[in-house]
This record gives sequence, C-alpha cells and structure tokens, in this order.
Amino acid sequence: MSVNAPPVLEIDHVSFGYGSELALDDVSLSVGRGQFVGLIGPNGSGKSTLMRLAVGLLHPRAGEVRLFGAPVGRFRDRHRIGYVPQATASRTGFPATVAEVVSTGRVGRRGLFRRFNQDDHRAVERALDSVGMSGLRDRLIGELSGGQHQRVMAARALAGEPELLLLDEPAAGVDAVAKVELLDLLQRLVEERGLVVVYVSHDFETLRRYFSKVALLNRRLLFYGTPGDLGEQHDVQRQLVEAALAADHHEHGHGGG
Ligand code: ADP
Ligand code: MG
Repeated sequence: MSVNAPPVLEIDHVSFGYGSELALDDVSLSVGRGQFVGLIGPNGSGKSTLMRLAVGLLHPRAGEVRLFGAPVGRFRDRHRIGYVPQATASRTGFPATVAEVVSTGRVGRRGLFRRFNQDDHRAVERALDSVGMSGLRDRLIGELSGGQHQRVMAARALAGEPELLLLDEPAAGVDAVAKVELLDLLQRLVEERGLVVVYVSHDFETLRRYFSKVALLNRRLLFYGTPGDLGEQHDVQRQLVEAALAADHHEHGHGGG
C-alpha cells in the first residue's frame, strides 16, 4: 500500500439541509487508515445525515465527500464500504434467517445475479463466526434479541469484507454486555485486519477505551482529535458531551457499565 494513499473518507467543507435550515454546516473531517473514529453528538446533531452523505445516499449542498480519494458520486467500489444504518423499524415478522440476512452482505461484491461461490460462503461463515452468531444461523431475524440483531447487522456488513465500516448507533437498545462485545470485535478488526471504523454514538464512556479519534458534532464539527486531546478541551466540548450522555440515558434508560 502506498505511503501516499489518500484518506479513506474525506468530508470536505460539507453543508446539507433537508429544508431551508442546515442540518450540517461546513463540516470537514478526514479519516485515515487504522482509525476507529467515534462520531458523537446529541440527538438531531446531524450524525445520521453525515453517515448518509458519506455513503452517497444524500448529496451535499456545498462541499465534497471523497471515498478513497474519489468523489462519492463517481465512487464505484461499493463493496469497499460497509454501512449499518440506524435501526428504526420493528424487526418482528421479518421472514429471513440470520444466515440469509448475512449473505445479502455479499451482493455488493458479487452483483445480484452471479452465483454464490466458495468465497462468498467463506466470507459469510467468517462474518457469522466473528460476531459469535454461527450457532444461531438458522434462527429467524425476528426472534433475536436487540443485541443479537445488531451483531447480525454488523456481520452482514462484514460479509462484504469492507475496508471502511460505518455503524450508526449500533448500540441503541442493546444491553451493556452486547455493546462491549461489539466494540471489542470492532477493535480487533481494526487491529488485525486494518478495518477503518466510524462508530456513531452518544455514549461518552466507551469512547476513551476504544476510539482512536473522536468527532464531536452539533450541526457543526466542534472537535476532531484523540480522546486524550478532548480531555484538555474546555467547556463547549464538555457541555456537548454531557448533552450527549443525557440524551443517551433519556432514550435508552441504561446506566453506565
Ligand atoms: P442525529 O442522527 O444526530 O440524531 P439526524 O442526522 O438524524 O441527527 O438529523 C439532523 C437534523 O435533520 C434533525 O433536525 C432532524 O430532525 C433533521 N432530519 C433528519 N432526517 C430528516 C429527513 N429525512 N427529513 C427532514 N429532516 C430530517
Ligand atoms: Mg441518528
């Protein structure tokens, strides 16, 4: 790999609004190799919007998004990106098994109509195994706990063997143990396979231990640096983090581990 490889993800002076108001105002950040980035901000701060822009589901009003050096609109290597959207809909009654859902994570690599081959099977097995769900492969998705469901969604993204994995609040509605397991898994993938991870959360407690960089967002980017540097920032950042924590407790009603 070239020393001069471009950043994996570049958000370059990006602004976006759904209506006349800006949901994101002149946000710039660059994610390089080997990073485990925590994107933190209170509800409505634009975290999910930024993820949708990063994968090209939305288009900036101003500025540019680049993936591996290419403008997102011209980026064709979809399989290099894994994206786990924020969970919203109820899962009950979805008539697919764990293995089937994880297999759909291969579509970006093989195209819709090419046959599922040995590589695909291996990648699906490896993904199931890495999240500890091999034993539940034939379970219906609707029968899983919140934590198990999130692990399946992570496995689905991992089955595509992405280089960049974006997870939007994967820990929402998940118990503390499952949350730590997912973070441990991601950290292992970052260290062992060089996966680059952007993990959206409003949980401040976990970020110190796991994240190599923290982005604090509140419509504008308030901070981007190491968790250590964040500790030395003053009140504005602290207040934002506290707001984020409060929102987390309010929404999910769980205490810190
Ligand atoms: P977060 O993920 O940090 O909670 P979002 O990116 O979901 O924030 O939302 C940022 C802002 O954009 C909020 O004010 C939200 O109400 C608004 N918003 C999000 N999605 C839509 C949408 N599809 N249509 C209109 N407004 C939206
Ligand atoms: Mg969101």
